[in-house]
Amino acid sequence: MALLVAKFGGSSLADANQFRKVKEIVMANPDRRYVVPSAPGKRFADDIKVTDMLYDCYELASEGLDFYESFDKIQGRFNGIIKDLGLDLDLSKEFSKIRSAFENAAGRDYAASRGEYLSGIILAKYLGYDFVDAAKCVRFNENGSFNAEFTFEKTAEHLSHHERAVIPGFYGKMPNDTIKTFSRGGSDITGSLVARGVGADLYENWTDVDGFLVADPRIVENPSPIKTITYRELRELSYMGATVLHEDAIFPVRQSGIPINIRNTNAPQNAGTMIVKDVTAEDETTHVTGIAGKKGFSIISIEKAMMNQELGFGRKVLGVIEKFGMSFENLPSGIDTMSVVLETKQINGRENELIEAIKTETNADSVAIEDKLAIIAVVGRGMIKACGTAAKVFAAIAKENINIRLMDQGSSELNIIIGVDESVFETALKSIYGEFFN
Ligand code: ASP
Repeated sequence: MALLVAKFGGSSLADANQFRKVKEIVMANPDRRYVVPSAPGKRFADDIKVTDMLYDCYELASEGLDFYESFDKIQGRFNGIIKDLGLDLDLSKEFSKIRSAFENAAGRDYAASRGEYLSGIILAKYLGYDFVDAAKCVRFNENGSFNAEFTFEKTAEHLSHHERAVIPGFYGKMPNDTIKTFSRGGSDITGSLVARGVGADLYENWTDVDGFLVADPRIVENPSPIKTITYRELRELSYMGATVLHEDAIFPVRQSGIPINIRNTNAPQNAGTMIVKDVTAEDETTHVTGIAGKKGFSIISIEKAMMNQELGFGRKVLGVIEKFGMSFENLPSGIDTMSVVLETKQINGRENELIEAIKTETNADSVAIEDKLAIIAVVGRGMIKACGTAAKVFAAIAKENINIRLMDQGSSELNIIIGVDESVFETALKSIYGEFFN
């Protein structure tokens, strides 16, 4: 028998109807023994997520304003679900405890965490599973960083006493017993921690899309879904803006090689995307797994004759950037030129200061900064074995008469990165997609 951990996002638990779908999914496979819920999300486009309602309500409370009406609305969301599901469950004691904690300044994180907490109690009752408070398993260090060792150990220990359980996502406990949350979307992380803690065979992440898509659907019409992606490819694509899963949700399962399956609660018949450590040769059907990109970059171009023969030139440039507290993205370089790509928002009006500092430190012939650069990453584990991937990328760009401002391919051959003007970003991305996927 396999062991599965299933995490359900906010849209999968937005109302009673969504709870019913979740129950059907969980019951369809007895291996789904541990379930991690988010707080109820939006039921319609301009609805408000329970987590946001809790933040707003706590803000009123912490300013000493009347927060009862706002609190009643939150209570109404949960009671509505309980009533519609016909559950014999009374949360009034929980609500009064939370209300007085709001009055006693229990903290913003505590407030937000109650969405997952209450959602977990309801789901446990509905599924007939035990409820295990995440505060018992998930632990942070004094400095706010996540305590992995403690969490894995405690999760394994606690859950060994529960054949089937619901563990709320998003929060854990500080050493001083106060509640702390992960960053937004953090229930994905809890799911991953639980999967790692209990040594699951698979971590299922149920959401409202069919998995990762090859490109952003806001730019490319109807992009194909990605069937299989490696952790490393996912890191590249998520960094570039493909958001389905919280970035920090990867590391706990990655370490022990537990695959993640992104699935759609509203279309459970679809296989979704499998995120794996490695793929077998038979899976290698494509050279490009995905295409993603982002605007908002600047490029620092440095030129100096005989740069390649000068010891420590790169270190000096990067030393200045470090001193300015900036981190860089790419370093495409030539014999006498070096370029550093970084997010424009990091430079934030310090262009001249930065140029002068690099000039002073390196004695460069010229230093210039240009902004309004967009970066596109064409990512694919299959690239390393294939010829002509770069040729296809450049052909697609040339077809649209677009000028490439920079290009970079690491020797790992996991991606090809190109930089274009922000104004032609969408056209470039569409054209590359067309070259590989149409
Ligand atoms: N409810 C939290 C949020 O809205 C965490 C989550 O859903 O993963 O960010």
